[in-house]
Amino acid sequence: MGKKNKQFVEKITAMEDDFAQWYTDVVKQADLVDYGPVRGTMIIKPEGFAIWENIRDELDRQIKATGHSNVSFPLFIPESLLQKEKDHVEGFAPEVAWVTHGGEEELSERLVVRPTSEALFCEYYSKNIHSYRDLPMLYNQWSNVVRWEKTTRPFLRSLEFLWQEGHTAHATYEDAAEETERMLGVYADVVENYLAIPVIHGRKTEKEKFAGAKYTLTIESLMHDGKALQSGTSHHFGSGFAEAFDITYLDENGDQQYVHQTSWGITTRLIGALIMVHGDNRGLVVPPRIAPTQAMIVPIAQHKEGVLDHAYDLRDRLKDIARVNIDPSDKMPGWKFNEYEMKGIPVRIEMGPKDIEKEQVVLVRRDTGEKEFVALNELEERLPILLEEIQQNLYNKALEHRNEMTTVVTDMEEFKQTLDQKAGFIKAMWCGDLACEEKIKEETTATSRCIPFEQEKVADSCVCCEKQAKELVYWAKAY
Ligand SMILES: [Zn+2]
Repeated sequence: MGKKNKQFVEKITAMEDDFAQWYTDVVKQADLVDYGPVRGTMIIKPEGFAIWENIRDELDRQIKATGHSNVSFPLFIPESLLQKEKDHVEGFAPEVAWVTHGGEEELSERLVVRPTSEALFCEYYSKNIHSYRDLPMLYNQWSNVVRWEKTTRPFLRSLEFLWQEGHTAHATYEDAAEETERMLGVYADVVENYLAIPVIHGRKTEKEKFAGAKYTLTIESLMHDGKALQSGTSHHFGSGFAEAFDITYLDENGDQQYVHQTSWGITTRLIGALIMVHGDNRGLVVPPRIAPTQAMIVPIAQHKEGVLDHAYDLRDRLKDIARVNIDPSDKMPGWKFNEYEMKGIPVRIEMGPKDIEKEQVVLVRRDTGEKEFVALNELEERLPILLEEIQQNLYNKALEHRNEMTTVVTDMEEFKQTLDQKAGFIKAMWCGDLACEEKIKEETTATSRCIPFEQEKVADSCVCCEKQAKELVYWAKAY
């Protein structure tokens, strides 16, 4: 390692030494967030917000393409409204923030700062759904929510975070079931094809499902350190909320029926996932499809006549091909190389007097460090292909890592050993009994991540109690 690299790497802790510290260092050094004045809050800086915007834009496109409309509901929820659905309020009560005063005056009823908006949407639906003609009602909102978490980390767990929450009402249980699955599919598409993170599709156990849901579907991904991260969830409410909030409609026969509802969400946690799946000891690695800047032009020996002009020309030429930026500052090229590697920009384009003379540029990949010389007149063709290669490579690497870190186990001894030695996903059979799920968590700290749609029978008996197994479950330590 050259002197230049060594200096650079000193800015961030090696992930092998301390993964948590590595994460914090990358988040700071890549300029994604800063801490807010209230413990556990975060300021998402331009570099971080631009990544969020790209995730948001693609997801928003797909949410609209599947027939949903965006809306904006209030930040405050009256306490009495939250109380209406018993499981829901019990699930969220420990972590809600209360508003007790308006100005100097104590409020007659406390308000909750939304931790999620089921109660508000249900209240609205109860007033605005009358007939089968009003259904389905397919709403989504992009907003912030507050959950008073005890331990916090930027993106992964913070008092306030950004997300989208879809809330839909349907005529039948089956319609709502289809919606629940459809939106999980949308999430999987965005996470796999844009964030380049492979996911396991499945259903949460009763213990892990959303408070108030009939069932929760989830996509689960594996981070570099072998811990899992829930990357998106989609909930089927059946008619539970409808009964609590009295949301009914007249069907085609004029009979009164309860609606069936869903809700689904993804959050800024996905940025945490992106960091922990693709990042390395040189910093962040952003998949090209969501990278705010896909290629950064770094002029070499830019004080020499014509170099900067050529670099600007190059940027203008490429602006319809890719999101290309240029750093014309008088900082040393070495500093710039390190800086844009830290920020995870997929491709660096180097151009100096010699390259201009030879009518070529140097392309350097962030994911592998590989360099290639490309003739100027072939660049328009080569750059998009290279970006796609990087996108694919990141996905393939993450998938390979997940496969290596997935272990089938058949007894508790093996379960514990595997978690101690390599972590990752554990595939093991389960009897379906809550007692076993709790015992596994207590003894190993691993939680059930999901009951995968793609079932396999890896053993006959439950990994914990050895009684007849019901289904295969993915287990892992999780963020
Ligand atoms: Zn069991």
